[in-house]
Amino acid sequence: MSGSVQALDEGALLDRVQARAGEGREILDAATREVIGRVPVQTVADLDRAVARASAAQPGWAACGHGRRSELLLAAAEAIEANAEPLAHLLSREQGKPLNGPNARFELGACAAWLRATANTVLDPEVLVDDETGYAELSYQPVGVVGAIGPWNWPLMIGIWQIAPSLRMGNTVVVKPSEHTPLSVLAMVSVLGDVLPDDVLVAVSGGREIGARLAAHPAIDKVMFTGSTATGRKVVEASAGNLARLTLELGGNDAGIVLPDADPKAIAEDLFWGAFINTGQTCAALKRLYVHDAIYEDVVTELAVVAAQTPMGRGLDENNVLGPLQNPQQLAVVSRLVEDARARGGRIVTGGAPAPELGELFYPVTIVADLDDGAPLVDEEQFGPALPVIRYHDVDDAVASANRLDVGLGASVWSSDRDQAREIAGRLQAGTVWINSHGGLHPMAPFGGVKSSGYGLEFGVEGLKSVAAPRVIHG
Ligand code: NAD
Repeated sequence: MSGSVQALDEGALLDRVQARAGEGREILDAATREVIGRVPVQTVADLDRAVARASAAQPGWAACGHGRRSELLLAAAEAIEANAEPLAHLLSREQGKPLNGPNARFELGACAAWLRATANTVLDPEVLVDDETGYAELSYQPVGVVGAIGPWNWPLMIGIWQIAPSLRMGNTVVVKPSEHTPLSVLAMVSVLGDVLPDDVLVAVSGGREIGARLAAHPAIDKVMFTGSTATGRKVVEASAGNLARLTLELGGNDAGIVLPDADPKAIAEDLFWGAFINTGQTCAALKRLYVHDAIYEDVVTELAVVAAQTPMGRGLDENNVLGPLQNPQQLAVVSRLVEDARARGGRIVTGGAPAPELGELFYPVTIVADLDDGAPLVDEEQFGPALPVIRYHDVDDAVASANRLDVGLGASVWSSDRDQAREIAGRLQAGTVWINSHGGLHPMAPFGGVKSSGYGLEFGVEGLKSVAAPRVIHG
């Protein structure tokens, strides 16, 4: 820790975190496929040393107290802001998301906002009993060392969601970024390290074996995991060994239901961004849209109009607001699902095939009409820019369709009648339901999934509780 905020340029940030010349693994620009830099390839022994350092630092960090930790999180927000532009550039190249739109600069803004909100959230002790039967008070202590394992879609923002509450509650943190987007996370951790005490936040880069060891590590007390449901199950299995507490933010397949009284033109842009934010690579994005027959064609047409007006391309070009898929595996998933949809009679309204003229990993916004439940593009998580639009006649059927899958992260209802929309929202099985929007989050509103989308809550007071150990004192 230098104790003061430093503003670096992108090259200096990269130099801080890169492997030594000739070592490490190449990381490619998602849009151009040029080499950005080389990330260190760390070993399980490196991870063990990182956990040992975080364990040693934890008692001192806990002893700092809430006031000091909050001050340091506010300083961390300043450090992020001082380096927001170079971090956004690095994120844009590594992840693919454009600088503009709800993308890289927006993600850095969210990092600072969540750090501040977490610093300012108070979790007071709670008096449970205070009467002739006795006195009992509940307070929240640090759990110890938190392992933070992240995905590649919103690597910085999700990293802060895991790091900020953990630090706030007096835990130290070992971060394991996704192997697809390690450089930007390592750079962000390095910036945070300028203002935090040594070893309270340590990053280890590596692949699945590092994640698996971190989840199973005997000195890890809590795992914050965001990623796929399949990997989440492995994290649960690992927790049988170390009994680590878990917060699991897993995959989703969010449904939106458009009621017949909605105005297609008025809602088209919000529907579009609900589905295509971060080029569809977002956990709580609209992934299947159920539209009433009365306005079905109008909604499909209006979505295609917005798609035609929304520029896609290299993220560093200030005009673009949609980018490439982050990696070839995800491009293959999207291509397979759209090809299958076409083969089973889905109507490709716009898009429908990769766009190699933009670059190797580009896939245009794709709207597929006339699909039914059961089509893989409807039932599987596409995690990319292809939206199935499904026709319904009876809203009870749409609710049943929305609830029929074994995931439940988010959902939305679109209507000009708020009361009716709220009634339907109350029947949807999801951790968050939006009305006339999809995907917006607030640092004070708890976020988490149901069913196979995971368990545990992030954000606000509930988020602080989830990285703390409750202690009741009687008497
Ligand atoms: P992933 O599960 O492939 O990887 C996530 C992380 O887990 C990576 O850092 C990876 O290295 C690590 N990992 C791999 N094997 C592991 C193991 N055995 N033990 C511990 N860690 C291991 O997921 P991804 O492809 O990076 O992310 C995409 C998925 O994440 C999508 O399903 C998406 O819906 C979900 N997601 C959910 C949220 C949410 O908040 N619910 C947010 C973003 C992404």
